[in-house]
Amino acid sequence: MTITQDSVVLLHYTLKDDAGEVIDSTSSGEPLAYLHGHGNLVPGLERALAGKSAGDKLSVKISPADGYGEFDKGLIQRVPRRALKGIKSIDVGMRLHAQTEQGPQAVTVTQIVGDMVTLDANHPLAGKNLNFDIEITEVRAATEEELEHGHVHGPGDHHH
Ligand code: ZN
Repeated sequence: MTITQDSVVLLHYTLKDDAGEVIDSTSSGEPLAYLHGHGNLVPGLERALAGKSAGDKLSVKISPADGYGEFDKGLIQRVPRRALKGIKSIDVGMRLHAQTEQGPQAVTVTQIVGDMVTLDANHPLAGKNLNFDIEITEVRAATEEELEHGHVHGPGDHHH
């Protein structure tokens, strides 16, 4: 069967940046399992996978707009260190959950100058092209429960 709305898809992927550096890969472990058409993957990747079937291999380059979004300078904020209560040591590169005006947000510490900490709420891959090499290993219909939950159960399920 081919990948359409509500298909459960298992695939192996390697994700590289434009310099060819591997960002992420399933090659040494279990394939990724996702429910097609539920926003589980970035939009450009779901679009590239639609209509493909088990055994298909593809290489796809996804622009930021179809990936993790453009880099937004408005998502960078500087806060005094004392605003980050309960976090003992803060280092550049750390990912943490900060309480912001928009609620709790995953942020990256990008700079520390004196008592001021710069927090970047952009996705780490925002503004980057995503270069995927993909091999589809299985395509099956979703169960009722999977459709209700909007994600895959069984191997590759990290939601429960
Ligand atoms: Zn579930």
